[in-house]
Amino acid sequence: MASVSMHTSPLEQPGSGDAGGLNVYTVEVAKRLARRGIATDVFTRATAPDQPPVVEMLPGVTVHHIPAGPYGSLDKHALAHYLCPFIFGVLQAEAGNEPGHYDLVHGHYWLSGRAGLAAAHRWGVPLVQSMHTLARVKNLALAEGDTAEPEHRVRGEDQLVRQADHLVANTAVERGQLIDHYGADPGRVSTVAPGVDLELFTPGSRREALRAVGLPADAELLLFVGRVQRLKAPDVLLRAAAALLERDPALRDRLVVAIVGGLSGGDLSQPRMLAELARSLGVADIVRWEPPRSRAELVSYYRAATATVVPSYSESFGLVAVESQACGTPVVASRVGGLPTAVRDGASGVLIDGHSPQDYARVLHRMVREPAWRARLGAEGVRHAAGLGWDATVDGLLGIYRETLVGGRLPLAAGQ
Ligand code: UDP
Repeated sequence: MASVSMHTSPLEQPGSGDAGGLNVYTVEVAKRLARRGIATDVFTRATAPDQPPVVEMLPGVTVHHIPAGPYGSLDKHALAHYLCPFIFGVLQAEAGNEPGHYDLVHGHYWLSGRAGLAAAHRWGVPLVQSMHTLARVKNLALAEGDTAEPEHRVRGEDQLVRQADHLVANTAVERGQLIDHYGADPGRVSTVAPGVDLELFTPGSRREALRAVGLPADAELLLFVGRVQRLKAPDVLLRAAAALLERDPALRDRLVVAIVGGLSGGDLSQPRMLAELARSLGVADIVRWEPPRSRAELVSYYRAATATVVPSYSESFGLVAVESQACGTPVVASRVGGLPTAVRDGASGVLIDGHSPQDYARVLHRMVREPAWRARLGAEGVRHAAGLGWDATVDGLLGIYRETLVGGRLPLAAGQ
């Protein structure tokens, strides 16, 4: 099958720029489809002249770099101008294959959906589309100072909703949004939750993990993992840490805040603003700014943390929240988007309405003071995450692929 991820490559390290959960999604799904005998070609925009046109990432997972627009990273909004050359490149790459090489196209994010639609029409195969985020929904929950998603994206999404053969929503909430805000036909929208790598993200000794990340055994680590952007609200965590120290000044010697991830969204003032904010709040000395880490390295951060904090204004699912729970660490998150699905409020973590630092500090303080409660949440998190493995995601997607393919060829049944 063909998977289209125009704006971000599965070969990139997630955690900065435009590389995040979507990259993890395309890789993890393609990897598991390959294990079931289904090969995936992923089409992405070439961003450097030395990238080989074709890279075999894993057995059964091939990445095609399609030149479209200038090399280097481009703002996502600018990418719409390069859809035509991108589509041309995808069609050209396929032209060397036997007719009927692909059975189905899966588009990720609206830009890829637009490209996927053209390719699917040309090849006479269905398009299954995952939006991952929705402009209308994002615009309803902007962080202060954030810019709204442009009108051309809203119109592009509208068109896709009408023309894709099937839409995949990450949560029931997103399915409802597609129906309510975009007028999607309920019969053509299914919910399939993304997942977590249950072989990698497992519970383990907190003491050893603290050592692995260079912290003393008595440290209380508040963890933020993700792209540093307004929408993910790392500033709320800094303010919450300051509020926590006001409540409990004795914690100052032990409290550490780690912000793991790189800049995203082109807002270059963001790191400086965050560093200044930390200084003005008097917490600069306890904050560790960490570059994007590999997923294997993240395991130690999650295991070491007292809590993982996800104070986002909008979040289509929140893979970080599930990874943390899989490692036995409770999550304190805002009650938005997919997070109420990713976190079992009161059982595997705590969801907070709004973004009041005091509310976050109150919950985090309780986690520090009541290790037994924290341990109960952690254990429930491991159970909750166990139901969200990528294999379950692939089961759900295969069901949709098969239904969409009814009447067509059925090689997707191979290897099942
Ligand atoms: N991630 C990573 N290294 C980092 C920061 C993040 O590998 O330094 C990964 C993280 O493990 C998760 C993904 O990036 O799988 C982020 O996904 P999420 O759904 O939390 O946010 P998104 O990026 O989709 O907004």
